Amino acid sequence: MTLNETHDPALRSWVASANGHDTDFPIQNLPFAVFRRTGSSEAWRGGVAIGDQVLDLGTAARTGAITGAAAQALQAAAGDSLNAFMALGAPAWSALRLALSRALREGAAERTRLEPCLVAQDAVEYTVPARIGDYTDFYTSIHHATNIGRLFRPDNPLMPNYKWIPIGYHGRASSVVVSGQDFRRPVGQTRAPDAGAPVVQASQRMDIELELGVFIGSANALGEPVTMAQAETHVFGLTLLNDWSARDIQPWEYQPLGPFLSKNFATTISPWIVTLEALAPYRVAPPARAADDPAPLAYLDSSFNREQGAIDIELDVLVQTPRMREQGQEAARIVTTNYRHAYWSFAQMVAHHTVNGCNLQPGDLLGTGTLSGPSLDQAAALIELTAGGKNPLTLPNGETRTWLQDGDTVVLRGHCAREGAARIGFGECRGTVLPARAL
Ligand code: MN
Repeated sequence: MTLNETHDPALRSWVASANGHDTDFPIQNLPFAVFRRTGSSEAWRGGVAIGDQVLDLGTAARTGAITGAAAQALQAAAGDSLNAFMALGAPAWSALRLALSRALREGAAERTRLEPCLVAQDAVEYTVPARIGDYTDFYTSIHHATNIGRLFRPDNPLMPNYKWIPIGYHGRASSVVVSGQDFRRPVGQTRAPDAGAPVVQASQRMDIELELGVFIGSANALGEPVTMAQAETHVFGLTLLNDWSARDIQPWEYQPLGPFLSKNFATTISPWIVTLEALAPYRVAPPARAADDPAPLAYLDSSFNREQGAIDIELDVLVQTPRMREQGQEAARIVTTNYRHAYWSFAQMVAHHTVNGCNLQPGDLLGTGTLSGPSLDQAAALIELTAGGKNPLTLPNGETRTWLQDGDTVVLRGHCAREGAARIGFGECRGTVLPARAL
């Protein structure tokens, strides 16, 4: 993915709010979502964020303002999910990005026809932007894997497979929800370490996992692996992802087949998918492997990946308790980390997922795993931040949290910034834990 005119930091839009220094959605970003006016029975349709507005791709397609190869892509993105657009592949995504970039620039002749297609973001609601056929969650932060492993195996925290194989498990697609959709605290079977029989009860150890979601664009055929050289052309873009986790259900159920009901009650994603092309200016080298680490096997290695396989995305977790909400206090940041610390890249996730011939399809979602950074204050789950529940966090208003309580809202944010490039952001991924159903 090379830099082109759409990344030029000097570009300005005729949508004035897109030119502010702190907007997540300048003209260099142009992420995709599926939306409608809040509370309406309008059809869901694709939209592109520009400043504090959404460009309605449904009405934009009918104006005829976009022509050529981009017009076909626009038509595909105007439906009630982005799957058809994703399936068209990287040249189509790029053609539409270029056409929208040109049409939304200051002085563009298309302004007259596109201005009536803007809807204020304040006035819209979102849905999951693709029909997600399958959801797979990885474990690509070696810092997260080590922090978690240390809780169970202090002397030997990292499993021997970790540096050889991108660890993952198949998750649940039906319970992936969009930011703002609240969910009930799960009920499940738990057993305290020193107890006899397990009990079924509301989870007492509700946790978060700050991750990125990777949306697959074009498919690979069953039986045909995706090579490292091809892997990134299959990736449409990235969202924020909160892989809510019940830490008391997990340890009792997870052996030998892995997490099950401790994870699949809800997974929240942000509405906006930031395309891989928009992320091109922020590519960086992954962390160098330690001298005594094994080199990746050939199917997981490429010179491009060694040089630019990571992305510099700063990520924040914020919490707002019910008391903070009542007193009008904003959500407080508890963690800042960065995607650049991941041990395995998203290209390696795709290459590994398909090495056996497994077919990925448009709209499939891959989670990166919890993106903890190298120091403990960059740990992206409460289980790490509180050392397994031993050291509660103190919030700015003096309240403490070991695990999430009913009514707590968690907000994930992410942005990219670099000298010589625009600042772009991901919007937010928000969810509130509601009380468990009565037993
Ligand atoms: Mn996870």
